[in-house]
Amino acid sequence: MKSFFTLDNPPPENPPAGVPAPSLWRVQRRRWHQHTPAPCDRGAKNPVCAHCKQAWPCHSWACWDGQIAEAFRHVRTSVHPTRRPRTV
Ligand SMILES: [Zn+2]
Repeated sequence: MKSFFTLDNPPPENPPAGVPAPSLWRVQRRRWHQHTPAPCDRGAKNPVCAHCKQAWPCHSWACWDGQIAEAFRHVRTSVHPTRRPRTV
């Protein structure tokens, strides 16, 4: 599963409310950033990962992105519970 985060719209620094393991989020996010192309390489036709030098998106980035997507799935489900508008 792929997250909807991109280089232009990276995962937020602080774990979104509802993430099952906020401390894990920070690790996942750090690794996600680690495995992105260097800023000068981002517009390149064939970018490479700044960390492992593989063609980007590299395997590691895809794994971390998948974990972030999985964590975020819990955010979405916890944001959408049967919450009724307050009637005052
Ligand atoms: Zn990499």
